[in-house]
Amino acid sequence: MRRNRRVKIVATLGPSSSDPDTIGRLFAAGADVFRINMSHASTGMLRELHRIIRRTEVDHGRPIGILVDLQGPKLRIGDLADDKVALDEGAFFRFDRNTEAGSPQRVCLPHPEIFQAVTAGDTLLLDDGKLRLTVTENAQDAITAKVVVGGPLASRKGISLPDTVLPFGAMTEKDRSDLDFALNLGVDWIALSFVQRAEDVAEARKLARGRAAIMTKLEKPAAIDQLDPIIEMSDAVMVARGDLGVEMPLERVPGLQKRITRAARHAGKPVVVATQMLESMIASPVPTRAEVSDVATAVFEGADAVMLSAESAAGDYPVEAIAMMDKVAVEVERDHMYDAVVHAQSTEPEATGPDAISAAARTVAETLNLAAIICYTSSGATGLRAARERPKQPILALSPITATGRRLALVWGLYCVLTNDPDDLDDMVDKACRIAYQHGFAQPGQRVIISAGVPLGTPGATNMLRVAFVGDDAAIRE
Ligand code: PEP
Repeated sequence: MRRNRRVKIVATLGPSSSDPDTIGRLFAAGADVFRINMSHASTGMLRELHRIIRRTEVDHGRPIGILVDLQGPKLRIGDLADDKVALDEGAFFRFDRNTEAGSPQRVCLPHPEIFQAVTAGDTLLLDDGKLRLTVTENAQDAITAKVVVGGPLASRKGISLPDTVLPFGAMTEKDRSDLDFALNLGVDWIALSFVQRAEDVAEARKLARGRAAIMTKLEKPAAIDQLDPIIEMSDAVMVARGDLGVEMPLERVPGLQKRITRAARHAGKPVVVATQMLESMIASPVPTRAEVSDVATAVFEGADAVMLSAESAAGDYPVEAIAMMDKVAVEVERDHMYDAVVHAQSTEPEATGPDAISAAARTVAETLNLAAIICYTSSGATGLRAARERPKQPILALSPITATGRRLALVWGLYCVLTNDPDDLDDMVDKACRIAYQHGFAQPGQRVIISAGVPLGTPGATNMLRVAFVGDDAAIRE
C-alpha cells in the first residue's frame, strides 16, 4: 500500500480502536505507526494489540511501527476529605508528608523528591495547570504556597513543577516493568515521558540495548533548556504539546514546536508533532478550520509525523480522523509552496559518507528528474540521512532487517521494502529496479538513483551512487 504523502501518521489505540477490524481500517485509512499509551493500557492489552498489529502487517504486506509510550513519573497530590476542596486566590495552601486526608488548608504530597528540590518563588501547577500557586516557603517537610489562580481541587490530581528540576529519572518502577514487557514482546519505538535531562534518555538506552529505538517526549522546560544534548541522545523526539502547554505558557508552544522541529531535522532525527491536532473529531465527523490549519502547519514544517491521541483512541470517529489527517497532508504536500517552505529549513550535509552520498543523490535525482531515490540501509541510518535531505523524489529504503523497516515507518518520505542484501553490484541494480517497478515507483524507461555501501552488506559503509535505467526486464521478471 503506497501513500500519496511523505509525512507519516501515528495513531494512538484505545477503547475506540482495539479490535482487528478497526485497526485494519485505521491502517488502510493512513496510519503508519500505532501508539499504545501505557498511562491507560495494561500489559495484557499491549500484548493483544501487538498481536493484532503484527497480523495487520502480514495482511497488508507492509512494515508497521509500534510505539509504546511509557507513563513516566506523573506526580499527584494525595487524597482530600470529601474528595474536593476549593482554593481561593490569595490564600495560602500547604503540601506536607502527613498521609491523612487533606483539607482546604493542606494536602499530602507523597513525593519526597519535591521537598528536596523546591525553592521559594517556584510555580506549582495543579490539575493540568488549571490552578497555579507560588511557593513562599519550603520547610523540608512542608511546602507553603500562595494561590495565584484558584478553583476546585479534587483528590489525586496531577501536580507539575515547571521551574524545578526534580532529582529523579524519567522512569518509575512501573515504567521499567512496562519497558521490559514491551521489549520482550518486540516493539519498535519506546517513548519516554517527562524527560528532564539527556541522562534520563541514556538510562533508557542502556535498558533497551538496541532492542527498540528511543523517542523522547519534549514536555518539560528543563528538557527544552537541554534540547541539543537530548536530541543527540535520542533516536527521535515528540513535541508533546499536551504537557508542554501545561508546563510552559500556552502561547509559547507554537514557537517551541518550530524550534524543536528544526533542531530535530538538523540532527536528522525523526520528529513527531502530537496532541489535539484534530481534537474536535473526538465527537464530530468534521474538524474545525483551525485544526486543519494546525495539521497543515506541522506538514509545512517538515515534521516526520503527525499524531492523533484521543481522536483515534477514544473518539467516535477514529477512522474518519485518520482519513482527514491523510487528506490534509496529501493536499499540503501538493501545494506549490510546499517544496520551497520545507527546503527553507534544510541544512548542509555533515562531513560523513552517508550524508555526502545522500546530498549528492538528491541533487542528481532533482537535476536529472529521476523517478526515485533508492537506498540500501541495514540499520536504517542511511535511510534517515536520505530523509534528512527532504528530496522531491520518493525514497525507497531497502533493508534485510524487519525491525529496521518497522522503525523507518515513522520517518518522513521513507517507503521501506524488506529484501535480502544483494549478492553483487549487478544484483544490487537489478533488485533496486525490480522493487521500484513492483511498488509503482518507476516504469520501464525511467531512471532511478541507487546508494549502497561496498563491500555490500556492511552496515555504515554507504559510499556509492549509481544511476540506473529501469529496463523492460524489471517488468518481465516480476
Ligand atoms: C502530550 O503531553 O502531549 C502527550 C503526547 O503525552 P500524553 O498523551 O501521555 O499526555
